[in-house]
Amino acid sequence: MRTVIYPGSFDPLTNGHLDVIQRATKLFDRVIVAVAKNESKNPLFTLEERLELVERAVKHLPNVEADCFDGLLVDYVQRQSAQAIIRGLRAVSDFEFEFQLALMNRKLNENVETIFMMPKDTYVFLSSRIVKEIARLGGDVSSFVPAHVQKALVGTLMVSKA
Ligand code: ADP
Repeated sequence: MRTVIYPGSFDPLTNGHLDVIQRATKLFDRVIVAVAKNESKNPLFTLEERLELVERAVKHLPNVEADCFDGLLVDYVQRQSAQAIIRGLRAVSDFEFEFQLALMNRKLNENVETIFMMPKDTYVFLSSRIVKEIARLGGDVSSFVPAHVQKALVGTLMVSKA
């Protein structure tokens, strides 16, 4: 049984994340999308909300589970008996940080491999941050996120404006 962990803030999940998840399902028996608590990033959605948005988005994928974690990623990987971590690589700008993170995780546990996947070209410039910014300005994000995420964005931003 080959298990991979796809960690991230997922604040919120986008079609770019989903594209990476779908690609990972072809390589692994079990894909765990692990939502990081990441309080320091001051997320728009709570951990529970981010997890629920991921859960709804992957419901139709039989070998994908959603979970959340706090603390060191390599410890979580070990607890799940996983073999690898998946990270998405968009543009060159992602590379330096992701490279540093992957090598640090290898230092912390040399049995954990990091695999990088590129999304479909349509999603190369898509990020949760940009989606939140567009939604905040009243723009249409329906081609960037699943419908339930769009609804949650509109609802949450309305509440935070009030
Ligand atoms: P983090 O805060 O850990 O970067 P994100 O939720 O922003 O969490 O992203 C999780 C992972 O998904 C990261 O590896 C990131 O590079 C990748 N990712 C984010 N958006 C996309 C996208 N549009 N296409 C491919 N990978 C992406």
